[in-house]
Amino acid sequence: MWINLYTLIYDFFFPEEQETPIYAMAAALSLRAPPPALASAIALRTFSTTLLSTPLKPLFASSSRALRSTPFPPFLSLLPSRRLAVRACADGGNGASFSRQFDFDLFTIGAGSGGVRASRFAATYGAKVAICELPFSTISSENAGGVGGTCVLRGCVPKKLFVYASQYSHDFEESHGFGWAYESEPKHDWSTLIANKNAELQRLTGIYKNILQNAGVTLIEGRGKIVDPHTVEVDGKLYTARHILISVGGRPNLPEIPGIEYAIDSDAALDLPSKPEKIAIVGGGYIALEFAGIFNGLKSEVHVFIRQKKVLRGFDEEIRDFVSEQMSLRGIEFHVEETPQALVKSTDGLLSLRTNKGTIDGFSHIMFATGRRPNTKNLGLENVGVDLAENGAILVDEYSQTSVDSIWAVGDVTDRLNLTPVALMEGGAFAKTVFLNEPTKPNFTAVPSAVFCQPPIGQVGLTEEQAIQEYGDVDIYTTNFRPLKATLSGLPDRVFMKLIVCANTNKVLGAHMCGDDAPEIIQGIGIAIKAGLTKWDFDSTVGIHPTSSEEFVTMRNPTRKIRKDSASVVEMSGDKIKSAG
Ligand SMILES: Cc1cc2nc3c(=O)[nH]c(=O)nc-3n(C[C@H](O)[C@H](O)[C@H](O)COP(=O)(O)OP(=O)(O)OC[C@H]3O[C@@H](n4cnc5c(N)ncnc54)[C@H](O)[C@@H]3O)c2cc1C
Repeated sequence: MWINLYTLIYDFFFPEEQETPIYAMAAALSLRAPPPALASAIALRTFSTTLLSTPLKPLFASSSRALRSTPFPPFLSLLPSRRLAVRACADGGNGASFSRQFDFDLFTIGAGSGGVRASRFAATYGAKVAICELPFSTISSENAGGVGGTCVLRGCVPKKLFVYASQYSHDFEESHGFGWAYESEPKHDWSTLIANKNAELQRLTGIYKNILQNAGVTLIEGRGKIVDPHTVEVDGKLYTARHILISVGGRPNLPEIPGIEYAIDSDAALDLPSKPEKIAIVGGGYIALEFAGIFNGLKSEVHVFIRQKKVLRGFDEEIRDFVSEQMSLRGIEFHVEETPQALVKSTDGLLSLRTNKGTIDGFSHIMFATGRRPNTKNLGLENVGVDLAENGAILVDEYSQTSVDSIWAVGDVTDRLNLTPVALMEGGAFAKTVFLNEPTKPNFTAVPSAVFCQPPIGQVGLTEEQAIQEYGDVDIYTTNFRPLKATLSGLPDRVFMKLIVCANTNKVLGAHMCGDDAPEIIQGIGIAIKAGLTKWDFDSTVGIHPTSSEEFVTMRNPTRKIRKDSASVVEMSGDKIKSAG
């Protein structure tokens, strides 16, 4: 009955529409090309829950802005219509796009983590979707990229493969204390690593293309540029769409100093023809530290240059100190408060780095890991008036909608929290909001993250400094111990862990760890923190023995109590230094 009423009213208001994207209904009733089984199942579920179970749900609420700008008579907002809701959202605030025909319901620019997720989900919800992406290359440029994006081709995945490669040297070193002896030092073959990594990237980009194809998304190879709020140009050809999603990510940002043309960035560092003998890495962020660990493990001489006193700005202060100490013990040389001013190439091909403190010679490579810039240049955004931040990032509301109602943006190009799982979350939330009529905001609280340096870091929730600012009264639990493995390896490896607890509610506000397996451990702790568990919950959990992670449930006494009123820090003896050795 609801369907008939809905169709009658819709057709009364929009008789001219021939092919209407009734997203969920179309898929369920096979009005389009037969959708995959999953799409049918989801569409059917959506159809039944939205149209039948909640007939009075105000379905115009596709986004906050759409809700404000709906051009329909108010009574229509009570109708159980996905079709109307999608229209309201697509309208751009003036009703003009309601009567237009478009080539696609969604046109996505950039097939990285966020773009692929959003496009796939939108297509699964029944939308007609196209996505454009630059031709494949291991090194990105204005004209090269590849399906899969940064994470798959030039970020998380190849980087982690390199981390694995580099960890063996530490394992070999540890193994002697456990009775292993080698006739000669194991040798590493750089070209094997590069060839195997590149074969894996080819496999992965193929998988991503299949994912899009299986979801029914049209893939167009080429550079996308926005022409107007509903039109994208790809290499001279125009495509119209009710919605445009920008998910073009970012690219490395190098300073303009003399000799910068001799520097490499993280793209190039993952695809070098030969292993660096001596490398300078400029930058103190997570990418710089990860590459420092990689090249150190692969036996390059590594120097890290940072402008500030400490690495990893924004991380917990104790973690910042601990990680640089541990990395120094593994042979990495840190040059703090040293700002590069020029690069010079000598006749023997080696490079020198001139800084505010002097010149260091003899580098085979100088890598800059000095941040990334959103890819918004030459995208045609000025044609349509999409608002940008000073650094070029696209400004969006809580639903990822830009200042132009038909244009949305997700992922690194919005410079919110530049991580792959966050881009996925934003892409998924966008698709739900626009094509499933479930207004969904990405939730940025308690997002766990890792730094795959050596030893690695895992963190979730607030740092001590943030917790004090937000809550005032906090109890800090820390432990710093020699892990069991180090007792026989004889290496100076240690582990640091920290819990930050709200003194008034007992809620655990943050967890931080630097030591072996920290990213794997923190993913689990992240669930507890996201769920708002208390220190009592941690204390009542039985540990797994013998592990490092059991320390997270056995830190009984606070290391210090910080109280806002008395402006005091009470240092406790607690189990601040706990050694298994
Ligand atoms: C070295 C490195 C290591 C990283 N490690 C991690 C990690 O361990 N964990 C983690 O969570 N995150 C990591 N990241 C971050 C992660 O890669 C990004 O957050 C994620 O890829 C962002 O996804 P996105 O969809 O926003 O953009 P991207 O994945 O960058 O995708 C954007 C796509 O758009 C394409 N494109 C650009 N302009 C156009 C155009 N005009 N037309 C068509 N296509 C275009 C690009 O070619 C690219 O494929 C790392 C990043 C780097 C650089």
